[in-house]
Amino acid sequence: MTLRIEYVHAVEILDSRARPTLSVTLRTTAGITVRAGVPSGASTGTREAVELRDGDQSRYGGQGVTGAVAHVNGEIAKALVGRRFGSAAELDAVLIELDGTPTKSRLGANAIVGVSIAAARAEAAARGQELWQRISETTGARPLLPVPHFNVVNGGAHAANSLDFQEFMLAPLGAPSLPEAVRAGAEVYARLRARLAAAGHAVGLGDEGGFAPAIDRPEDVLHQLVEAIDDAGYTPGRDGIAIALDPAASEFYRDGRYLISGQDLTSAQLIDRYEEMTDRFPVWSIEDGLAENDWDGWTQLTARLGTRIQLVGDDIFVTDPAIITEAVDRKVANAALIKVNQIGTVTETLEAIRICREAGYTQMVSHRSGETEDTFIADLVIGAGCGQLKSGAPARGERIAKYNRLIETADTHPELPFGLTSDR
Ligand code: PEP
Ligand code: MG
Repeated sequence: MTLRIEYVHAVEILDSRARPTLSVTLRTTAGITVRAGVPSGASTGTREAVELRDGDQSRYGGQGVTGAVAHVNGEIAKALVGRRFGSAAELDAVLIELDGTPTKSRLGANAIVGVSIAAARAEAAARGQELWQRISETTGARPLLPVPHFNVVNGGAHAANSLDFQEFMLAPLGAPSLPEAVRAGAEVYARLRARLAAAGHAVGLGDEGGFAPAIDRPEDVLHQLVEAIDDAGYTPGRDGIAIALDPAASEFYRDGRYLISGQDLTSAQLIDRYEEMTDRFPVWSIEDGLAENDWDGWTQLTARLGTRIQLVGDDIFVTDPAIITEAVDRKVANAALIKVNQIGTVTETLEAIRICREAGYTQMVSHRSGETEDTFIADLVIGAGCGQLKSGAPARGERIAKYNRLIETADTHPELPFGLTSDR
């Protein structure tokens, strides 16, 4: 199989927050045409690959991506068109070299990741395979339908409410199948909406489709979630529906202290608070419980809670194989969030997953708060066998596109196992 590129073209489209992003179309000489939509975060890690924005205030408040589009249609197209590649990984290597910076700041990670995702799709199509099948063969992983993590209450940088924690997720760990897990998420979401409305809260949605009530204390949200799980007829806990948090603590970290709901906490005090939450509520996973620069705090957090719950590094790791390697050495966290645009190519993302797997760190594949209808991450999580996907609430088109891709794959491939690991 070779990929001979005939055409690469980007255009500025909109993401789910009405901000510009890129759509990339790639065509091979064998007549395969594929597309990719580029996601974009709001609570970004400082070491993420650099998203190129125009900064021209006369268009989209400076958020335009015409520069990144021009890089795809100019330099990148020139380097790829007419050339043969033995794999998408070879094409990624050319993109990395062409950019030439450690953070993809010259051509823009948003330009590069769009081309990289399109190339992965083209390779699968050229081999007549589903994308997840190709990813599974590339990585040597057993394909697996993941446990969806539904973000049903939004705060932090994703909502205009007073809640400091960014994400409260339902994790149907006890569901017998992927469709039943999706059903559980949607049913609890409906009950939660009813509970919040009955308590007089607005039930408008945040960026990821979760409710954004004016509740300050994270414990009060956890209480509502447990009640909603119960109302919907499910068991709160790992046998039924557990809860995963993403406080996104870098966002409320100032001068070495954590500012949440009017309190000013040290790392140790916040860790105590997490321990209490874990005792009182069925919290099974905490992502970015501490800030990306608080590595000493992370070491303590991991020592205190790392054997009881999953501790996921997002802003702190930014899907960077080198940073994850350092974290493994320093016993920081026990899991990594996986976001393709944080590192900028599919190849480097698969390398981050490989390092996690070797170190015994679990992996949660993730969308961004700004999304398109692109479903790449659904295939990535299945093919790389990661076992966990977060793609927001079971609501809003750009969120459910990913969950629906999982459901359709479960239907067409009933042989695929479901769960956190394939040996469940
Ligand atoms: C996250 O922090 O995990 C997240 C998905 O948010 P964003 O895309 O805004 O970084
Ligand atoms: Mg996060």
